Amino acid sequence: MYHIAIDLDNTLLNTSKASISQFNKLTGIDLFPTDENHYRYYEFYGWNEEMYEVAYEQIGNEIHWQSDPYPYAVEVVKKLFRTYQLTILTARPDLFYDVTLKWLQFHDIPFHDIVFEREKFRICESLNIDMLIDDAPHYAMEFSSKGKRFMIMDQPYNRNINHNLIHRVTEWKEVIGILSECCETKLQNSKLSKI
Ligand SMILES: [Mg+2]
Repeated sequence: MYHIAIDLDNTLLNTSKASISQFNKLTGIDLFPTDENHYRYYEFYGWNEEMYEVAYEQIGNEIHWQSDPYPYAVEVVKKLFRTYQLTILTARPDLFYDVTLKWLQFHDIPFHDIVFEREKFRICESLNIDMLIDDAPHYAMEFSSKGKRFMIMDQPYNRNINHNLIHRVTEWKEVIGILSECCETKLQNSKLSKI
């Protein structure tokens, strides 16, 4: 069965919006919602990555609980669940395991497996995952450079990433069509290799 993995933050749900709202409360600094267009928007608070991690650990539960799914994401995932093997693959720390499960249950999002892991390429190889849907530029570059297909959820910070193995989607409704094409191609390739 064709196996897909789906990232959570800024792929299935809008994490940046909830993060900015919570970090604004924490710091008293008012970032604009458009600042979420930057992958490392936390630099606008004067934080480096380490400082961001500390703040994130402190209020990550609120951020993850209050994030909203993107339009049609839930409906599409429910459809995919009926056709594909579906793994949720997130780089969130284990610390947010409970809130993540609770959020997925609350939004009635089905999945066969869930993995918390930063090294997504390695996991996709070991679990025989055919396609990862994710927003992160560094994963898109790693997957495509290693010859693996990738579906990138369009975000302002990843628009300079282009490759013939990267399929760009601007809304969740497009995911079904792209996946069925890729699945068909895989089927044909496996038939051809047997000839
Ligand atoms: Mg993400």
